[in-house]
Amino acid sequence: MLKELIDQFYSDNHKDRDQKRFYITDAGRCGRAIFFKFKNVPRQELEPRMLRLFDHGDYIQMQILNSLFSLGIVRASEIRIPPQEIISGRADAIITLDNELYVVDFKSMNSMIFKRLEEPKEENVNQLQLYLHYFKIPKGILLYVNKDTSDLKEFLVKYDKVKAVKLLEDLTKLKSKIDTDIVPERIPGYPDDWQCRYCQFKSICKTAGEKALNWNDFREKIESIKENGN
Ligand code: SF4
Repeated sequence: MLKELIDQFYSDNHKDRDQKRFYITDAGRCGRAIFFKFKNVPRQELEPRMLRLFDHGDYIQMQILNSLFSLGIVRASEIRIPPQEIISGRADAIITLDNELYVVDFKSMNSMIFKRLEEPKEENVNQLQLYLHYFKIPKGILLYVNKDTSDLKEFLVKYDKVKAVKLLEDLTKLKSKIDTDIVPERIPGYPDDWQCRYCQFKSICKTAGEKALNWNDFREKIESIKENGN
């Protein structure tokens, strides 16, 4: 009945799109998973329930942004980083506090993760570092929202040029692997790292093995396995 229709709506509206540039959320993430995304490798689909949860998070973040607008401290919202070859991204807000500019990025999470959060997540800091880099703003704030209780936690992040440049260099190296069809090696924490636990390419990654390998040879191998049914 209605549930099936809504599930279908979510699945249809979250079909994978061709990726040509890195998203800012790719910074510091597993290069192999990003490689598979660029190559349009079929991935394990996310359940409609998960997709609705993401939407719910976006809605809560919008409410927080509205309260910042009401406070009169928002200078810009949903700001894209300047156009360039390698990466695209959109920061949630730039605000002024005590005459200083800050880039603010909102993140929402459930109570269980929120309670355990004592420091900002590394992947969120990476993303914010790149916003600070591109907007040339020295400070940012990561604002975490508990989706279940609306509690907030905030962390100040200072621009770290060395880190931002390293993240961009790593993405440039990864782009060269994508262009030359070299599947990167697995991340060192495989398979216990959180990225592996939530990875939509787990199955193909397992088949590929640990080391870097040639994509065309590997693709031929998996296609022949599929054709022969073993
Ligand atoms: S399973 Fe882990 S190592 Fe393999 S692609 Fe996914 S995140 Fe990367």
